[in-house]
Amino acid sequence: MSKITIPMKRIYFFLTALLISPVVKTQVNIDYFLPKDITYNKEIPTPKQFTGHEVGEWHLTHDKLCAYMIELASLSDRAVWEEYGRSYENRPLGQLIISSPENIKNIEKLRQQHILLCDPQKSAGADIKNMPLFIRLGYGIHGNESSGQNASVLTAYYLIAGEGGKIDELLKNTVVMIDPSLNPDGMQRHSTWVNSTRSLNNNPDPNSLEFNEPWPGGRTNHYWFDLNRDYLMPQHPESIGRLESFYKWRPNIITDHHEMSANSTFFFQPGVTSRNNPLTPPENLELTTEIAKYHEKYLNEIGSLYFTEESYDDFYVGKGSAYPDIHGSVGILFEQAGVKGHLKETPGGLISFPFAIRNQFTVSLSTLEAGLKMKDKLLASQRDFYKDAIIQADKYSTKAFVFTEPSDKGRTSEFIKNMIRHHIRVYKLARDIKQDGVDYKADNSYIIPLKQNEYRFIRSIFEPVKEFSDSLFYDISTWVVPMSFNIQYAAINATKVTTGLEGEEILDPPASEGVLTASENSYAYLFEWNEYYAPKALYRLQNAGVVAKVATDKFVCTDGKTEREFSYGTIMIHASEQNMSSDDLFKLMGSVAKDCGITIYGVSTGATPKGIDLGSNAFITLKKPSVVMFTGDGSNSSEAGEIWHMLDTRFNIPVTMVSPAKASAVNFDRYNVLIITGSPEISPSVIENIITWTKKGGTLIAYGSANTWLSKNKLAQIEFVPEAVPDVKEGIYVNRRSDVKAQEIPGSIFETKLDLSHPLCYGYTRKILPVMKTTATVVKKDPDVYNNPIVYTSDPLLSGYCSKKNAERIKGTPFASVHGDRIISIYDNTNFRAVWYGTNKIFMNAVFFGQVIVSK
Ligand SMILES: [Zn+2]
Repeated sequence: MSKITIPMKRIYFFLTALLISPVVKTQVNIDYFLPKDITYNKEIPTPKQFTGHEVGEWHLTHDKLCAYMIELASLSDRAVWEEYGRSYENRPLGQLIISSPENIKNIEKLRQQHILLCDPQKSAGADIKNMPLFIRLGYGIHGNESSGQNASVLTAYYLIAGEGGKIDELLKNTVVMIDPSLNPDGMQRHSTWVNSTRSLNNNPDPNSLEFNEPWPGGRTNHYWFDLNRDYLMPQHPESIGRLESFYKWRPNIITDHHEMSANSTFFFQPGVTSRNNPLTPPENLELTTEIAKYHEKYLNEIGSLYFTEESYDDFYVGKGSAYPDIHGSVGILFEQAGVKGHLKETPGGLISFPFAIRNQFTVSLSTLEAGLKMKDKLLASQRDFYKDAIIQADKYSTKAFVFTEPSDKGRTSEFIKNMIRHHIRVYKLARDIKQDGVDYKADNSYIIPLKQNEYRFIRSIFEPVKEFSDSLFYDISTWVVPMSFNIQYAAINATKVTTGLEGEEILDPPASEGVLTASENSYAYLFEWNEYYAPKALYRLQNAGVVAKVATDKFVCTDGKTEREFSYGTIMIHASEQNMSSDDLFKLMGSVAKDCGITIYGVSTGATPKGIDLGSNAFITLKKPSVVMFTGDGSNSSEAGEIWHMLDTRFNIPVTMVSPAKASAVNFDRYNVLIITGSPEISPSVIENIITWTKKGGTLIAYGSANTWLSKNKLAQIEFVPEAVPDVKEGIYVNRRSDVKAQEIPGSIFETKLDLSHPLCYGYTRKILPVMKTTATVVKKDPDVYNNPIVYTSDPLLSGYCSKKNAERIKGTPFASVHGDRIISIYDNTNFRAVWYGTNKIFMNAVFFGQVIVSK
């Protein structure tokens, strides 16, 4: 083997090139980032003067980042800080609003004048030429994609300290809103990790602790949710506040700064144009493409590589770059190769944190220039979007959607609350109508007319879609919101008279008022399980020491005059069995009914005119759930987070989260429900302990991906249906990935059929239930016919993408099964993104009623 010698001089040259290469720079000063064509006001502190370190030297923590923004607002007449919310961990969510001093003085007037553009009744007289453009720069919704948040201080400094005609012109014509950290809790986790594991000498080895955050990482929020999927029907304070602020300010451009894998370059939108949401008007793509020219120019100037029109898309409208597009604004996604540390080795070479920050800052500046140059066009486009919405609504065949869910006031109220949050106008139905065989009664039904400002968004969340021009999706392929809430709804078309159907407008969601219909000396109390918040009520009672029983069969009760039928799952509290006075019990029942919004009935006898009597063995005494869940290496943080969030925030049920690494020290006898997600790394002896524990009466819930783990560890026999074989067509090499992906299920809605008498289905009033399916995993039914209470129907696709082969594989297979007595498999996601209120009850039934399931 010959040895190649390189002259010393050439090695020196190579090393020097490495050190000054823009992607490798780690020791920089602010001149590395800032444009040279303007001067800066010395009175305004640079980020380093305020935080004590240079941008990119350390990761900013959230408190420092916010403090800098607030400091700039206090020092400058160009800016105000507006807080719009608090994260779960009580960190401020806010934006630094920057414009000329004159505009800042009149900011409320400018805002009011601006938002009229989104009201077609009032937008005709808008003097667009004399109005500023509103631009919102949003950084780091994924908390560990930190080049964005760290770039935000540069953007703020540039706009506030910058001097001269160029800055003055920009600030006179634009209002820039810097939202420096869209996910404060995730950012704090990540910044603390990378700073605390960083060495004095940057070590770029990807095996280093610095690049390997502990489970669950900083991407998500406090409850481990991906906030960049939460804009559709926001469930978290971060997005609820942000959406409120969106409607308050109606920015024309919204940027969304992310990071992708370290072995990439830089991405800016447009993404894959064939996958744009068809309800977004084509003008939106034209504007995005025109704005992209500015990013191209700015990134060329600093010599950074980039790509566009690939990989990402704006199909799912619940993402940060897509929801603006369906609301008359332009959302722009940026993706920078992520360092996730300070200097990292990649197959393409070293990449430094300052380099990543500089790219994010540079496209912030190109966005501002695009906004300035395209100001009038963008303002006019926003106005025309809403004018056009009304014209399109007039032409469209569907005129309104009606909905009702009389058996569940809690779920109905949550549904309406979510509509109103999106400025969708909801009205009481003025008179009874029948549509598609369903009675919509005026006293419990509502109507949403399509002829209103958010026409496009309403169609997007109400209309099922089964036809697609592409079989690939960056995210889910459908999100029919009434299906996710399991709300009965129907489209009303022009042939049905729609005038006179709108009653009073609902401005506040109807509070689901609880009622106690009982006397103080009731013999027993009863409440039905169909209300969404029934589990909250039951847990509260059990936690107060009340002994409660569940009805495993139907019965009828009478108060002497009227008869009322009670279904499977009704909860019965027998007064004389309780360890409290009848007065105290009565008071407790009243407060539980009120706080949980449920109706509790009192009865004066144990005898029933029909069905089981209250002393029947078909009433089974329930143990209070004591829940433990594996959370740590191997568990699925998103599934575990959805469960934690639901139990904690909606039902007030504590869950003990145990790291799989510590599981051998846990005495499972303390718990009666064990939840497993993903593939937790636990030892064979712990698995033995779990098997013994289930035999003693514990309920094991294997959720989603954990069913593969369950089967592998022989806790249950699960037979998987073989995967669909991709259609290779002519076997064109470049299509190999898309051929495989066409057999995936990106998130589609399917119809299932329920056995209403099974404990997993207690509380459901209809046999048909829409469910969300997010994987192509399909299993065969459990051989015991009573163990498959929820199965896909014979033609199950309700909305979304599904290949013909997968549709065949799915039909008639179980959504959930029981193995033996108390090992419950939920094969897909009942708690998807916290918006599947309709299927949450299946999960809660597993928690409360797993204990009463018996094999034949
Ligand atoms: Zn991201």
